[in-house]
Amino acid sequence: MSDLKKRAEEVMPGGVNSSVRAFHYVGGDPIFAKSANGAYIETFDGRRLIDFCMSFGPLILGHAHPDVVEAIQRASERGTSFAVTTEAEIAMAELIRDAVPSMERIRLVNSGTEACMTAIRLARGYTGRNKILKFSGCYHGHSDGLLVKAGSGVAGIAAASSAGVPDKIAEQTVVARFNNPEDVSRMIADEGADLAAIIVEPIAANMGLVEPNDGFLEFLRQKSDECGACLIFDEVITGFRFTFGGYQNICGTRPDITCLGKIIGGGLPIGALGGRADIMDCLAPAGPVYQAGTLSGNPISVASGLATLTELKSNPPYERLEKGTTDLVRAMTQTAEDTGVDVRIPHIGSLFAPLFTDRSVKYFEDVETTDQNKFSEAFRLLLDNGIYFPPSPFEVCFLSSAHHDSILDDAVEGWNRTLKGLTLS
Ligand SMILES: *Cc1c(COP(=O)(O)O)cnc(C)c1O
Repeated sequence: MSDLKKRAEEVMPGGVNSSVRAFHYVGGDPIFAKSANGAYIETFDGRRLIDFCMSFGPLILGHAHPDVVEAIQRASERGTSFAVTTEAEIAMAELIRDAVPSMERIRLVNSGTEACMTAIRLARGYTGRNKILKFSGCYHGHSDGLLVKAGSGVAGIAAASSAGVPDKIAEQTVVARFNNPEDVSRMIADEGADLAAIIVEPIAANMGLVEPNDGFLEFLRQKSDECGACLIFDEVITGFRFTFGGYQNICGTRPDITCLGKIIGGGLPIGALGGRADIMDCLAPAGPVYQAGTLSGNPISVASGLATLTELKSNPPYERLEKGTTDLVRAMTQTAEDTGVDVRIPHIGSLFAPLFTDRSVKYFEDVETTDQNKFSEAFRLLLDNGIYFPPSPFEVCFLSSAHHDSILDDAVEGWNRTLKGLTLS
């Protein structure tokens, strides 16, 4: 065991500050970061890896983009926290509202978790109802009511997916299968009158990568309207990932509330929720739903986010990113065919998810039944070949605008060597 791992494990539970970093899915020693630039992350023990994890999504411009770094430096010289409103926060909210018109009013918070947690409380306060409907495999951060999975017994009733979540709270959530309108109809028939919100990742990017079937999101819109629940799109990953706006700009379905995070902070801690003005105005002090945060709208996070969004708006990388990803995935798939390894690599825009399976991936169960041992072996071999994928088959891979063609060529070579080295059949 490395010295760092030993020190980390003595002083931090599991040696980490966020669970997936411990590499428990894939085994082997976790990496420790020293620095990063562009598409590369350098480890403490001196390896330089092509990074496809990219901090799980925020770094669409790559690590340490010069504009973002400069914005952070300048902001920090003006003061690191005021806990009063700044002009930059207003400018950030205006920029987001203009890009995502359903977000008529916006509140900035500190993380995606906080955005989703607050959106749920807001929906409950607005509707005066308690229950929420979520989808298995969709992740919305780690607040109690969202850390639930489909229960094994009574269909629809959720069970806590973590210790420490009271049954009484888990029972307030019903869990449907993504892309399964029958589940939704049945649960709304049972619970519709008590339902405060339906929350969904419009593209599911925490179960590998699963696109919504045609009409599924619009169906959720209709069902929400019928029963009077708020429709919440969790666009923490998808926001500003495919276009200068949300996935809602592409699919055309308008949610009542949207949650953002990741990209809008450009690598610094941030989250945002926004939506219909009459709903958002239920938030304190305009309304009765409490929300607060010492560091909410933090000037350095806002500067980093504004610099990122400004660059994305003035120099949109989206077409290039999509082309790079499509070419990469095509080459990776070809290699897999040549070496006789069963891999499916769903991809959308600059997201892709290599899954060891011979089936197409349309449902959470398709991801759950992929070959996770093979994923783990490939993950470790990829590291040896200079490539860092997210350390779990449920996490998605990210391209950034710093992943130039020559870097992607190197990645394909590393992938090629990896597949040839796989021992598990
Ligand atoms: C990452 C993520 C969150 C949680 O955001 P944090 O900033 O990690 O709290 C919520 N929803 C989705 C879809 C995410 O991918």
